[in-house]
Amino acid sequence: MRIRDQKGARGAVVHVSIGRRRALAWALLPAAQLLVPGAWAQAARIASARVWPAQEYTRVILESPAPLAWEVLTLSDPDRVVLDLDGADVGPEIAGLAQRVQASDPHLAGIRYGRKTPTVLRVVFDLKGGVVAQAFALKPVAEFGHRLVVDLIPSTPPDPLMALLDADRAKPGAPPSDARPAEGAAAKRDVARRVTIAIDPGHGGEDPGAIGPKGTYEKHVALAISRRLKQVLDAGSGVRAVLTRDDDYFVPLATRVHKARRAQADLLVSIHADAFREPRARGSSVFALSENGATSAAARWLAQKENAADLIGGVNLDVRDPVLARTLLDLSQTAQINDSLKAGRHVLAGLAEVNALHKRDVEQAGFAVLKAPDVPSILVETAFISNPDEERKLRDPRQQARYAESIADGVLRYFSRNPPLARG
Ligand SMILES: [Zn+2]
Repeated sequence: MRIRDQKGARGAVVHVSIGRRRALAWALLPAAQLLVPGAWAQAARIASARVWPAQEYTRVILESPAPLAWEVLTLSDPDRVVLDLDGADVGPEIAGLAQRVQASDPHLAGIRYGRKTPTVLRVVFDLKGGVVAQAFALKPVAEFGHRLVVDLIPSTPPDPLMALLDADRAKPGAPPSDARPAEGAAAKRDVARRVTIAIDPGHGGEDPGAIGPKGTYEKHVALAISRRLKQVLDAGSGVRAVLTRDDDYFVPLATRVHKARRAQADLLVSIHADAFREPRARGSSVFALSENGATSAAARWLAQKENAADLIGGVNLDVRDPVLARTLLDLSQTAQINDSLKAGRHVLAGLAEVNALHKRDVEQAGFAVLKAPDVPSILVETAFISNPDEERKLRDPRQQARYAESIADGVLRYFSRNPPLARG
C-alpha cells in the first residue's frame, strides 16, 4: 500500500505530516481532538463540484465559500484516492458527484462518499488504474470562491511526443513542396525534415477565457479552430502539427511551452479570441513576446489578461518545474522574437484575407505562453468574441475553417521563405 502525503489547505486540522502510522493513529483519535475549536462550529458547505476528465489527467474541483480542511491519500489494491473533508456536510453537490463521472473518463471509475467519523466526510475516488493524486487549494479569484483541486494524474503518463513520433514512422517523410531551398546560399540549408508546428488552443477546463454576448466560450472556439488548423497543416506534406491540448481541460502556460519544446516545434501558434468592453471592437491581431515592455497599453493589458489563465485555471505552484523556470528566465530571446515577428507578419497577412485587422502590425507584450527561448512563438487573437458579429463567425464551423486556413497559409508562407535549418 502506498500513501502519499498532502498538506491541508489551512491549519485547521492536525495533519501536517501524515505517514501510514500517523494516518492510523489519526483514525483512532476522538474527532473533537482533530479540530481547532470553532473550525467545525459552522459546517463547511460545498457550493459547487466539477469533474474535468482528460487523457493527461482528470481534475476534480470542490468549490466552497470558506476554505476547506482536507486530507488526501492514494491507495492501491484496488486503486483509489481518498479525500477526507473535516467538518463538511454531504449536501447536494457531494451527493451528485457520482453522476458527474463520465464512463469515458480515462482515470476515474466512480465516486463514493460516506461518514468517516461524525465530523469527517470521506469521498472515495475509484480509479481505472495507477494514479498519482495531487491536491491543492486555490484562493478566490475572478468569480470563483475557494477551490480545492484534486488532480488524478496517471502514474505512467501518456507521452504525446512518442505518439507523434510513432505517427511519423507510419507516414514516410518528405520535404515541404513549397519549402525547397533556392539556389545559392539558401541551398546550403537542409530542409529535408519535417516542420513541426505546436498549436496551442488557449484556456480550457476551469478557465473559459473570454465569454461572448451570446455565451460563447473562448476556450471552445480556440479548440475548434486549433483542431481545424492541425487538419489543414497535417494535410500538407512535410508538415506535422501537434496540439498542446485536445480536450476541455486546463493546461498551465509553462506546460504549453514545455510541450512545444519537447516536440521540437519550429513554431508555436497560440489560438485565442479577443474581448473588449466596447462591443464594436473587432478584427484579428497577432502578438509576439516582448522582453522590454509592451508595444502598447492595450497589448500590455491583453498579456496580463491572458497570463491570468494560470490563476483562473488553477496551477499547482508546488510542482512548478524549477529547471523550466530557470531556462525561461536566463536566456536572451532576441533571435526568437525576431523570428516570431516574421512569422507573425505572414500570419497577419493571411488573416487579412478573411477578416478585418484590429492592428496592422504584430504587437508585442510579455505573454507567458510565448516564452519558449528556442521556439518562435506567436499568439493569434482570431477575432473579437465580444463583438456580436464576430462572435457569430467564431461559432460558425465554416468560418472557423476559414480562420484556420488563413493562419495555415501565413505559417506555410513563413516557412517557404525561412526554411528551418537541419538539426544538430
Ligand atoms: Zn485568450
